[in-house]
Amino acid sequence: MTQINRRDFIKLSSATAALAVTPSILNAEGNGSFEARVAIVGGGFAGATLAKYLRLWSDGKIQVTMIDKNPDHISCVLSNLILNDRLQLTDITLSYTPLQDNYGVIVKQGLVNNVTGADVKTVHLDNNDSIVCDYVVLAPGIEFIDIPGLKNGDTNSFDQVPHAWIAGPQTELLRDQLNSMQQGDTFVMTVPESPYRCPPGPYERACVVADYIKRVKGSGNVIVLDPHPEIAIEKETFELAFNGIYKDIVTYVPNATLNSIEIKSNGEKVAKTSAGDFTAKVINVIPTHKAGKIVEDLGLLPVGQRFAPVNPVSYESTERTGIYVIGDSNNSGQPKSGHMANAQAKVCADAIIRTIASKTTSEDFVHDPARLQNIKTNSACYSPITYDEASWLTAVFGYETASNSMKLVTDSFATSHSPHWSNENFEDMFDWANSLFSNTFR
Ligand SMILES: Cc1cc2nc3c(=O)[nH]c(=O)nc-3n(C[C@H](O)[C@H](O)[C@H](O)COP(=O)(O)OP(=O)(O)OC[C@H]3O[C@@H](n4cnc5c(N)ncnc54)[C@H](O)[C@@H]3O)c2cc1C
Repeated sequence: MTQINRRDFIKLSSATAALAVTPSILNAEGNGSFEARVAIVGGGFAGATLAKYLRLWSDGKIQVTMIDKNPDHISCVLSNLILNDRLQLTDITLSYTPLQDNYGVIVKQGLVNNVTGADVKTVHLDNNDSIVCDYVVLAPGIEFIDIPGLKNGDTNSFDQVPHAWIAGPQTELLRDQLNSMQQGDTFVMTVPESPYRCPPGPYERACVVADYIKRVKGSGNVIVLDPHPEIAIEKETFELAFNGIYKDIVTYVPNATLNSIEIKSNGEKVAKTSAGDFTAKVINVIPTHKAGKIVEDLGLLPVGQRFAPVNPVSYESTERTGIYVIGDSNNSGQPKSGHMANAQAKVCADAIIRTIASKTTSEDFVHDPARLQNIKTNSACYSPITYDEASWLTAVFGYETASNSMKLVTDSFATSHSPHWSNENFEDMFDWANSLFSNTFR
């Protein structure tokens, strides 16, 4: 592990993708006509960053419409801090107004349910609105895979057994269930199958809940059911927490694949797993993920795959030209994080602008060796471990021509993790998050 200065880390981790384009490569005359029209499905960390940087780097020459089913974005980043009442939802709700006012992004609210057309495309919304465009970028985040007893769209099941993994009402629901626990009660949670959103997130949640139980309820149990053979990330840190400060509270169960959830008539909840049955007052299932539904509906998931294959030099789908997939929905082999979604969006913005500028073929512009060499992305996750202490993890990825993939840059200054959790890290977490929020939404 490389030890780095924490201030350097914050500076570095805020910088994200190392690419910049020259706005002058686009030639519109400023007569109100656009060089091209791009529609973006989803206004999370990936979609909002793309909307902003397409406008900024094209000098306003690309018309950008961003569609989200919600009126604003509730960040998953920092959302575990709702559970212990450190933050409220309003603290992590990010408005789309600055994207409209500062960059001229057209923001529409609605659920996108189809994209038709080849060269010129039409994006269809559930409210019968539609957008005609030249390029479509999908950034819809994640969807959950059904488990017997827990079904997407069946509000009853997730109302009783919240996932709280897409921030919003579910996060408040889990907070309230946690709050209603009595001294000595049991909280069971499941870790999703890799790859999943925010690798340290489930273990971080176990710590936040254990800390809450210890401080507020006096005693109780947190059982972590993990389908993996061991803690998947920051193993040292989480083992130290589970076996140290939380040894009387946390039980970590490896190789525990969730088979079903049963809710008994007396309200008792049971998680049935390959490692046995676990009964609890509160069960928090984080189901295994797949790409957002629209990605699957458009046929961008080859049979048996959960996430969309993309070309990492542009994030264009390998299954359909002119449609790009950024953020948690793709399978680029990089961590699924907000920070990474922001970085991927910048690579994608650069590639789309170059493709538009080249008019006939994107090859020379998008595959320019100098550009490929500069494709770098990075990811950072902060994990609260106690009420006021946190750890962090960061990784840098670089493009490798031979494999046409993004590879972890192991000798990078910033492929690293914190030696221990600390109060200093906890404070830095807010600086980092604010910087990511600003870079994406403002
Ligand atoms: C508890 C927790 C802690 C985390 N901590 C960190 C951290 O420390 N660092 C970090 O970098 N990341 C962290 N993450 C991960 C991060 O939140 C995600 O990786 C990130 O949100 C992915 O961005 P995205 O844009 O791909 O998806 P999202 O942010 O999920 O955005 C997708 C958007 O698309 C919209 N949408 C979906 N389908 C449609 C449709 N058909 N039509 C219209 N709109 C649609 C949704 O409403 C949503 O706004 C954390 C996650 C969790 C759950």
